[in-house]
Order: sequence, then structure tokens, then C-alpha cells
Amino acid sequence: MDNQQSGKELYFKRVPVVPRSIQGGFRRFKTAILWLGFAVYFLLPWLPWSREGAPSQAVMFDIPGRRYLIFNLTVYPQDIFWLALLLFIAAVVLFFATALVGRAFCGYFCFQTLWTDAFIWLEKWFQGERPARLRLSRESWSKREKLLKVGGTRIAWALLSFWTALTFVFYFGYAPELLQTFFTGDAPAAAYITTLVLTISTYAAAGLLREHVCTFICPYGRFQSAMYDPETLTVHYDRRRGEGAAGRASARAGARAREERSALGHGDCVDCGLCAQVCPVGIDIRDGLQYTCISCGLCVDACDSIMDKMGWPRGLVRYDSEVNLARSAPTPPKLHWKSLKVLGYGVSIVLMTGYLIYDMSHRSSFEHSIQQIRQPLFVTLSDGTIRNRYQIRLTNISGAEETYAISARGLPEGALDLGNFESVTIRNGKSVIIQASVMLDPHRAREIDHFEFLIRNGKGESVVDPARFFTKH
Ligand code: SF4
Ligand code: SF4
Repeated sequence: MDNQQSGKELYFKRVPVVPRSIQGGFRRFKTAILWLGFAVYFLLPWLPWSREGAPSQAVMFDIPGRRYLIFNLTVYPQDIFWLALLLFIAAVVLFFATALVGRAFCGYFCFQTLWTDAFIWLEKWFQGERPARLRLSRESWSKREKLLKVGGTRIAWALLSFWTALTFVFYFGYAPELLQTFFTGDAPAAAYITTLVLTISTYAAAGLLREHVCTFICPYGRFQSAMYDPETLTVHYDRRRGEGAAGRASARAGARAREERSALGHGDCVDCGLCAQVCPVGIDIRDGLQYTCISCGLCVDACDSIMDKMGWPRGLVRYDSEVNLARSAPTPPKLHWKSLKVLGYGVSIVLMTGYLIYDMSHRSSFEHSIQQIRQPLFVTLSDGTIRNRYQIRLTNISGAEETYAISARGLPEGALDLGNFESVTIRNGKSVIIQASVMLDPHRAREIDHFEFLIRNGKGESVVDPARFFTKH
């Protein structure tokens, strides 16, 4: 039966979600993550960091210098492998977390969740708690109160969106300078365009679309169910406890004490609806596990507060697994980490992270490449001497100016000609190309077909690179 036959509309008008605020452990955890995330994001571009030959900003994409500065680490385009590995590790960490605790990343750490939380906080600050906001939404726009409160909220959202966008731009330039040039109109056009686009998208995503981003736009919400298994901990309503044999019922006279309710066949859910009112995506957890749930735990806080008031045990809504809930006597929820899938994710994360750290800490302070010039492969001079030529490229990635000496092993004295210099000094982040020649008399040329280049820096670090000497095609 299609939707028209069943009488259901394919499209329906969005009903804005107006969440009620709640206190509790999960709310405190979310707030702590929000503060921490905002502090890192907004303050990091202002953290000074002195380094030679580069802007003194702790974290910055130095576009003119074609490098990414992260405290004492400088990442160059040739280190793209690190970025690829980092993204891969992040993806596996996400799978790992989802297999253990469902969509918890979405509920606590996702940018969309953090900024939406901040926007809802601003909305509440200007317009009041959920009943006041609902009342205001029904008021006419001709009312001064609505204009002031809703207008104030929108202005605050716009300012936060603008500062979010501008902060993003600060990661691509020296922040103190960029701030000044931005407001004097002297910043690059890209800075204005990026700020405009990000201001609009932040306002739209966190202020207007909110849960629709998680439900309809984010692909993760759609495929996360593939990572779930019945042992995954996620937010559940304990239907058996909540409904009893006769269903949920309000705590009216005669059905208030647990014994009275039990006698009437009612469960512990007093049908207060608080769990649904606090939900930022506008669902009722009592309808069962839903893909739109971001596992934020606010309904757990809400229900626990009701259970506390009633004097009943907490946990009617809780993080638990389907397997445990199906047991006749559920045990305390625990992380099920012993599955092959979770262990596989864990081992992959450890191995990849270990390799990344090893590779980063063992990076040479300079990069080099040596290419034999093949047009022509060798030249025979008028006195019979045979000459091969090589192009040596050196890139200094040590973080400071450095001097390099180039020599050869396996060649007679004076056979290597670097063009009248013995060493080369290179500024941090820069490259030089050196043309080298090796000349051998015909007798030695017949004996030597391999030798080695030796490149050594002022700190004693060295690399040895094999090379060939050709006397025929
Ligand atoms: S149902 Fe509960 S855990 Fe899921 S999004 Fe709503 S409040 Fe958060
Ligand atoms: S908060 Fe708890 S008691 Fe209230 S409706 Fe939700 S599940 Fe039932």
C-alpha cells in the first residue's frame, strides 16, 4: 500500500522542537563538553607560540608557506599520508564508540549538537523556559514582547554565527592581524566570502534546521544502525517496568504509591511526558529505539528526576542493551566490549595510532630526492673523462635555518663537483635544487658503476642515498 492509499502525507509541516531544560548528570556532562569545545575552538587561534621563520600562532594553516603549524609540529603537503591516516583513525574511533554506546558521539561531541545546544541556551535566555517559548510562538508578531524577545534571540544567534565563522577564518591567517584587516576592509576577499558562507550556514544549521540536520542531512545517522548490535548500550525505555500489565498511568489519587499501582497493573511511568519535552530532536523514547535519537541522555535525566520525586528507583529510562532489557531479571547495564567487532576496532585504533606517532616522531628534519639527469645519460669529454649529472633537491622541515653538507662515498677524491660550494644553508620550510656532476677518468669509470651520496646537516643527522654511474646506454 503506498502512502496515498494509506492516507498518509509524504510531506508534513515541521513542528518546531522547543525543548525544556533539565538538570542531571548527562546534562552536566554535555555542558562540560560544550564549554571545553567552545574554549578550544574560540581561543586556540589566539594562543601565541614562538617559532622561527613562521607566524607565532600555536595552530594555523599557513597558506602562503604551504604548511600547517600545530604547536611544535609543522606539517607539509607531502605529509598528506598523516592526514589520511588521522581521518581513518577518527572514522574507526567513531565506529568503535557506536558499537559500544550507540550514537553517543552525536549526543555529546558533534559540532551540530554543540552549536544547537548553545543556540537553545540563547533562546531560553531571551524567551524563557519551554512554556513561555511556546506561548510566545503563538503570539502575533504585532506584539512588542514577541518582537523584542524573538528579535533579540535572532540577533544573538547571528552574532554567535558570525563569530564562529570569523574564528574559523582566524585558523588560516595570523589572527591579531587578520582581525584588524577584516574590520578595516583590507583582508583577502576569501576571508569575507568564507565568513559570510559560514555565518549563514551556522545560523541555518543550529538555529533553523537543528534536528533536521541529524535526521535528514547527516549520513552517519542513517548508517549507524549497521554498527549496532543487541549488546550495544543505548538509551532505552524499560517498557516492562514502565507499562506493567495495564499500561502507564498518571500518579492520580489511588494510583500514587507503587503498591497501589502494582495492584492496578500499572507500571512506574507516570505519563508526565517530561522525557519527550526535554528531547532536543522531539521524539518520545517510550515509542522505542528510533534512528533519530542522538543518545544525548537528557530523557534519562528527566525520568530520573521524576523517579527521585516519586521516591522510586532511577533507571526507568536508561543506557542499556536490548539483550539485557529482554532478560526476565535485567542486570546492571555494562559495556559489552568482548565482541569480535569491538575488539577489532580497538586493535585497529591502537595499531594505527601507534604507527602514526612513530612516523611523526621519526620524521627526518629534512627531505631529499636525488635524480639522475638522463638527457643525456653520460657525456664523454674531449680528454676521455666521463661525466654523469644529478639533481639534488633538499627541503628543510626542521623548524629553523639549517646548513647541509653533501659528499659522496665510493668515488675518488675530487670526482664530485657541486659547483664550487661545500655546504648549503636553507631557511625553514624552503627547498633548494643543487646540480651535481661526477667525473671519472675512463679507467675508473669502468670500475665504478655504483656509489653513494651522503647528506649531513649541522646537527649530525645524515642520509645515504645510492646512485649509479653510467658509461653506456
Ligand atoms: S530520546 Fe532521549 S537520548 Fe534520544 S535524543 Fe531524545 S532526549 Fe536524547
Ligand atoms: S519521564 Fe519517565 S515517568 Fe515521565 S513520561 Fe517519561 S518515562 Fe514516564
